[in-house]
Amino acid sequence: MAALKLIDPYNRHLNYLRISITDRCNLKCIYCVPRHLIPRLPHTEILKYEEILRIVRIGVKLGITKIRVTGGEPLVRKGVYEFLHRLSLIEGLTDLSLTTNGVTLKDNLGKIKAAGIRRINISLDTLNRKKYEQITGVDLFDRIWQGIEKAMEMGFHPIKLNVVALNGINDDELTDMARLSFDYPLHIRFIEYMPIGESQMGNGPLLLAPEIKKRICSALGQLIAVRNSVNDGPAQRYRFEGAIGEVGFIHALSHHFCDRCNRLRLTASGQLRPCLLSDRHEDLKGPLRNGCSDEQLAEIFLKAVRHKPSDHNLAAGNSLRVNGRMSAIGG
Ligand code: SAM
Repeated sequence: MAALKLIDPYNRHLNYLRISITDRCNLKCIYCVPRHLIPRLPHTEILKYEEILRIVRIGVKLGITKIRVTGGEPLVRKGVYEFLHRLSLIEGLTDLSLTTNGVTLKDNLGKIKAAGIRRINISLDTLNRKKYEQITGVDLFDRIWQGIEKAMEMGFHPIKLNVVALNGINDDELTDMARLSFDYPLHIRFIEYMPIGESQMGNGPLLLAPEIKKRICSALGQLIAVRNSVNDGPAQRYRFEGAIGEVGFIHALSHHFCDRCNRLRLTASGQLRPCLLSDRHEDLKGPLRNGCSDEQLAEIFLKAVRHKPSDHNLAAGNSLRVNGRMSAIGG
């Protein structure tokens, strides 16, 4: 199996697996889930940790070196810290990171650090307490910010703040968010809103990276490009003169990065998804629970890779929606 590699028909080397370990979340962000009737997978449908670890070991033999644990909210799943620790012990993984909304971060940073994680992404779409409640459904801004401060004190680096740019909601705050990079060693990452699943967002005009860049530069000055390092994803990285942090843009719609995409996604229910923005997937859970060998599971990885689309067909101004839920697929 070791000789096989995850190279797709477009010669992209897929070495990055993003894992949604749960579809549950303690927030109800308006752009992510429908606020009132949130469908949930039954527990039996969700991969057990043992199953995820087996899939990861197979992936690593095929060339996966980088893993991000996400959800749903990964930190709400029971046993997550022990799981992260076991994941970090898998030989061949060179990069393990976590995406969280930060709700339970402050009191658990020690455990996250002990599990071997240094890089965290924290979602924060506003600096305004009232607006935070409007976006997420709960009044927890202060707690999230305390978690971010403590993570900085404890030496996590880089800490990326994920900001989804939402027209009419946080568009008046983009400059304030970017300004944080002058005072803190944070990487502020502006993410274009993607129409996935059923959220509260309509199909109105989207706030795209070129416009965000224009607005923050007119207030804060010129952006200086920062060279990407090997562990960087598709974000374009920049900093302002004199800033200690950075700003970045994830421009999945305005300028998609499919030609450089090195990702596969393992959903909470055990589907391997070669593209976030396409509903195509291969089932791993069924075969795994039916006694498949590692070789047969590796074959499913290779099949997913063979069917990775050359690019996604979402674009700004196009009303196509992807059906899966972001929380189950893993953002
Ligand atoms: N609960 C964790 C969190 O909030 O960071 C991890 C899961 S969340 C789905 C991962 C990331 O996806 C978050 O940064 C969130 O802002 C982003 N996200 C969710 N829905 C999105 C959408 N429709 N378009 C763009 N980004 C989205």
